[in-house]
Amino acid sequence: MSTRIKETRQQALEILKSKYGYDQFRFQQEDIVQTLVNGKDALVLMPTGGGKSLCYQIPSLIRDGVGIVISPLIALMQDQVNALSALGIRAAFLNSTLDHYERIKVEQQLLNNQLDLLYISPERLNTTSFLSLLNRSTIALFAIDEAHCVSQWGHDFRSDYMQLQQLHERFPNVPRIALTATADQRTRNEIVQQLGLQSARVFLHSFDRPNIFYRISEGESNRDRLWQFIQANHLLDAGIIYCLSRKRVDTIADWLSKKGCVALPYHAGMSTKQRAINQHRFLVEEAVVIVATIAFGMGIDKPDVRYVAHLCLPKTIEAYYQETGRAGRDGQPANAWLAYGMQDVISMRQMGQQSDGNENHKLNLHQKLESMLGLCEQVTCRRQTLLAYFDETRDQPCGHCDTCINPPPTWDATEAARMALSCVYRTGQRFGVSYLVDVLIGKPHDRIEHNGHDKISTWNIGNELSAAEWRSLYRQLLVYSYVESDPDLHGGLKLTQLAKPLLSGGETLMLRKVEPRIKKSGLKTARTAPEVADQPLFNALRALRKSIADEDSIPPYVIFHDKTLVEMVSVQPTSLTEMASISGVGDKKLDKYGAEFLGVIRDHHANL
Ligand code: ADP
Ligand code: ZN
Repeated sequence: MSTRIKETRQQALEILKSKYGYDQFRFQQEDIVQTLVNGKDALVLMPTGGGKSLCYQIPSLIRDGVGIVISPLIALMQDQVNALSALGIRAAFLNSTLDHYERIKVEQQLLNNQLDLLYISPERLNTTSFLSLLNRSTIALFAIDEAHCVSQWGHDFRSDYMQLQQLHERFPNVPRIALTATADQRTRNEIVQQLGLQSARVFLHSFDRPNIFYRISEGESNRDRLWQFIQANHLLDAGIIYCLSRKRVDTIADWLSKKGCVALPYHAGMSTKQRAINQHRFLVEEAVVIVATIAFGMGIDKPDVRYVAHLCLPKTIEAYYQETGRAGRDGQPANAWLAYGMQDVISMRQMGQQSDGNENHKLNLHQKLESMLGLCEQVTCRRQTLLAYFDETRDQPCGHCDTCINPPPTWDATEAARMALSCVYRTGQRFGVSYLVDVLIGKPHDRIEHNGHDKISTWNIGNELSAAEWRSLYRQLLVYSYVESDPDLHGGLKLTQLAKPLLSGGETLMLRKVEPRIKKSGLKTARTAPEVADQPLFNALRALRKSIADEDSIPPYVIFHDKTLVEMVSVQPTSLTEMASISGVGDKKLDKYGAEFLGVIRDHHANL
């Protein structure tokens, strides 16, 4: 190793420890830092929570001048700057939310080389006045965050990103780092093309999120199952619950509030102001649950969201990955929980059919939804499928998802499926599931008698299965497209092409057994909090963190992450020196908070 590399390494580790309170670099962080310190460009693809920020923050501290961070997420800049200031790093931002005087002040700091990092929106960066300001400043590096925004095919395209190419032309000696959590090859190529990063070193990190436990179930009474899940795992935690419609968001938020949770709604039908209030409470308070449509989440940087629950089906695996990825950014155990039912499958397919756009577009949507349903229904490791979707192969099952822990029992459903399909056929391909199930189990009612369906060959032939099992069977037949739901028939089912070979006996069908009612003890998934015996200390530390946070009007996690508190509980430091060894306790925070937290630990001992 050359002396220079060694020196940089030393310096980088020093900063990591003294500023951030961490002992080691993660994954490729160290190489990325080296690359930039040496004046070379880098393209970094890392999942959310992977630790991208350090990759440009530390080189900005090592190199002369200020690191310019370009980000479209204006709403986040204040938080980022607060978090950096709490670490003793000199940071500021420039965007449309600043008034004239605030702007002048930041510009002065920039010119006087009084900043380590400056966050800026792309539209402001591209102005001639700002570019000329940069000409007169010393620049350590350019960090282009959310770099997938240059992609015209993606969903976050920003035309201002197209002009970022000029940075290289104007400042050829300033290294650039482009960062994104969007993995696919097409986006990657576009970033390289549009930003002129052909000679950048590419750092591609696994998209696995090992701390997230995936659980997907289909069945009935989703709401009650959600409550069981929250009660068993997350009563004291922050979480996000996604629902399909605004109305459902309101209902679920109300319902959870009545159960005693702090559950706040978030959807596009609310006023901007109310949305901002709810989002703010989610960030600064603890154990707030946001119930939201998918409008919520872009740019939410809260590290300690302990679970993301879906009471609806995401449209695509990408969306599912992105939404669940908002859980556990701090690397601590977190849960991704999804429950869906037959109605969800039907509505999602109809929405796909009715969406605007040409047939190709519809087909594309349809295939993506089918992949998502495949993920839901599969009986093997979820993580393997998720990663495979992002072109990442993993040889072994993960051991940390529902299907790994509890392989779903399957059964030979061929015979039953034939009965179910014949019943659809014999009743004229126009009835919904409840009706069909009543015919199969021979439950008489007026409509059936009126239609003469108590006389047909599938009447009362299905007593070997319960009504719930028949419904589950129909759900799966729908997922696997043996039947489809006709929108003109209000949920009536008809057979598809696939039904024929199954009916004529040329095929066997293995299906998931219907999920038994979940017992509470069977719900153990992922937990963060320390063992029960130490819970009082953990709660006391949390309470202290909360009171400091309230006093300073900052989110609690800016003081310490949960992970740091958990470590305090297990190490129980008795001196400032011991406190300094806890991960997440850097010099500035040790100074500012160390004594108070030690005090709480001491009191805890005294009370034992
Ligand atoms: P990203 O921007 O990739 O989503 P962040 O940069 O916000 O991720 O980092 C996620 C979390 O991981 C943050 O809480 C950060 O402090 C923490 N982190 C990053 N690098 C390290 C490290 N080397 N050791 C411990 N924690 C780290
Ligand atoms: Zn698995």
